[in-house]
Amino acid sequence: MNGASKKSLSERVAVKAAPISEAAAGAILTVDLGAIRENYRRLKARLGDVGCAGVVKADGYGLGGAQVAAALAAEGCATFFVAHLAEGVLLRQALGARPAIYVLNGIQPGAESEAVEAELGVVINSAGQLAAWRSAAQRAGRKLKAGIQVDSGMSRLGMAAAEVEAVTADPRAFDGINATFVMSHLARADEPEHPANEQQRLEFERLRRMLPPVPASLANSSGIFLGQPFHYDLARPGAALYGINPTPAEENPMLPVVRLQAKVIQTRSLDRGAGVGYGHIFHVTDSLVAATISLGYADGWHRRAASAAWFENVRLPFLGRVSMDSIVLDISALPPDRLKAGDLVELIGPSQTVDQAAGHAGTIGYEILTSLGHRFHRRYVNG
Ligand SMILES: *Cc1c(COP(=O)(O)O)cnc(C)c1O
Repeated sequence: MNGASKKSLSERVAVKAAPISEAAAGAILTVDLGAIRENYRRLKARLGDVGCAGVVKADGYGLGGAQVAAALAAEGCATFFVAHLAEGVLLRQALGARPAIYVLNGIQPGAESEAVEAELGVVINSAGQLAAWRSAAQRAGRKLKAGIQVDSGMSRLGMAAAEVEAVTADPRAFDGINATFVMSHLARADEPEHPANEQQRLEFERLRRMLPPVPASLANSSGIFLGQPFHYDLARPGAALYGINPTPAEENPMLPVVRLQAKVIQTRSLDRGAGVGYGHIFHVTDSLVAATISLGYADGWHRRAASAAWFENVRLPFLGRVSMDSIVLDISALPPDRLKAGDLVELIGPSQTVDQAAGHAGTIGYEILTSLGHRFHRRYVNG
């Protein structure tokens, strides 16, 4: 609430690591901001007159919240969602005063004044959060922006039916609150045939009718592809903007955004019987040629991932375990001496999409992107 606490927060969040040069980095992450903009336009085309926000939580799904949000703002995106207060404070610094920024998780008790200072809207998930935001408005002496989240069946965040009823029984419940939308979130939007989607939509309808008559928001990326009844007034895509397939059963309608390349550190010939990496979980049966690359689980590549890198359309399987900072590849499929120290192999890109990499690691594209580490040289192109 006082100036000192605000300053310490902004100082804390303003500390940025120096950029890592291409020469010094072990791996290079290329983010195609032009592709993000095209993906935003593709989603907007599906939505027609419906508004389209940008979800940039977790540092823009690991790709750089400030860069991603600036690209979306250049396409006319005027509403952004983050998950945490600190993300919202950073984003406000990056985007300036104009865009609306909402904090999906709401504000932790006692931190409301920091959200007020940064002009953030909050998503109200409970009667307690509503009361705290009401008090913050009273202290601020002005109305404060909020989205109201109801739980339509995911059992994660938002007010369930009984809580909505209790809140609306109080005629002063929304004093000082500028409620800009009512929202909910779908649990199975990537399964278009699943009846849970329509059940959630109907419950959302029922709950929002008890609340102030304001715009409504239900669809995430996959929700947009469930069709017009799910669009309401404002869609909230994240993943699809970053090239993750929002329709897993069908071809990806989005452009790829991310390319991840790692440098070769050294190559070597391995003889029959050699054990490779920690625990020797791989033993060479025929002699082979191996390359060690400068990327490991500390860079977000899961230790258990049985995966491969690619070089000029040739698949180079991992040998043994992923280490913290390196991975050993079988490069026997390449002509001798084709791959040398300093050359780049591809982990994510045209040869292996984010979704395919996720499949090999037993996870989803969201986790691959948000796990991407902080030791890469980051290159933003087509901004
Ligand atoms: C993360 C999130 C989104 C965006 O979801 P995607 O599947 O990435 O499009 C939308 N709304 C809420 C509440 C979220 O938590």
